Amino acid sequence: MIDRLLLYKLRCIKCGFEGKLSVADENKGKDINGFLECPKCRKKYEIREGIPIIIPSYGMLQDERVQVFDKFSERYDSWFSSERGKILFENELRAINSVLERIKYVESLEIGVGTGAFAEKLGIRFGVDPAWHALLQAKKRGIIVVQGVAEKLPFSSNQFDIVFIIVTICYVRSPLLVLEETKRVLKSGGYLVIGFIDRNSCWGKYYLEKKRRGHLFYSPANFYTFNEVKRMLSKIGFKIIRVASTITQKPSEKTIELEEPKTTLDPSASFIVVLGKSE
Ligand SMILES: [Zn+2]
Repeated sequence: MIDRLLLYKLRCIKCGFEGKLSVADENKGKDINGFLECPKCRKKYEIREGIPIIIPSYGMLQDERVQVFDKFSERYDSWFSSERGKILFENELRAINSVLERIKYVESLEIGVGTGAFAEKLGIRFGVDPAWHALLQAKKRGIIVVQGVAEKLPFSSNQFDIVFIIVTICYVRSPLLVLEETKRVLKSGGYLVIGFIDRNSCWGKYYLEKKRRGHLFYSPANFYTFNEVKRMLSKIGFKIIRVASTITQKPSEKTIELEEPKTTLDPSASFIVVLGKSE
C-alpha cells in the first residue's frame, strides 16, 4: 500500500487542497493499485504499484525530457557503476556532502530523483520525478516516491527541511517555477541543495557538444552557468550560504581520479554545488 507518511504530505494539484488525501472506496481489498481522492474537489489520482501519480496531465509524460529517462532509465542508471561514471559520481557526492556539513535535517526531498542513485547515497527520504521506470528503480532503493512534475509539485506547503535538485535543473521546463515550488514545499528557513554542471566549464562544453550532436541524454538538456543559477536563486528568495566545486579533470583525460572538493568556486571545476537557505 501507499506509504502512510506520504499521505499526509501530498497536495491536490487541481484545487490546491493541502491535507490528507483520502484513499478512495474502491481500493478495498487492493494492496497496491487504486486511487487517492481529494476530499475537496473529488479529483482522483491513480496509485500504481504503490506509487501515487499526481501529474497535471498524462500528455506531459510525452515530453522528450521525460521519455528519455522513462525508456532508458536502466541505461542511465548503469552510468553510475561504469568505470568513469563511478568516479565522477563519487566526486559529485563528496562535493554535495561538503556543503551539508553540520546541516541538520529530517524531512528531505529530491526533485528529479530519477533512479534514486543520489538519494540512496545521501539518505534522502522522498523523491519526485515524471519518469515512471526511473521511479520504479528509486523505489527499489528504498526512496518513497511520487510521480509528478517539478513545476507543479504534488506536495503540501512547508513540508521539508531540505530539498535537493541534483543534475536536474538542466532538464526542467522552467527553472524559476521549479525554484518557486521548492520554496513553497520547504519549511521556513529550509535548505536547498542544487548541483549542476556549469555551462562554461570544460565538462559543460563537452556536454553541449554532445547535445549538438543529438546525444540521447544531452539533447533535451539546457545548461546554466553559476551566475545564472545565482540570479535565479536570489530572484526567488534563496540566500546562498555555501558553494562547493569539483571535477577539475578534463573529459579528454583517459582516467578520471577521485578528488577532494573545493569549498569555493574553482574556475577549473565543472560540477558546482550551491547550498541555499529559504529567506
Ligand atoms: Zn482537489
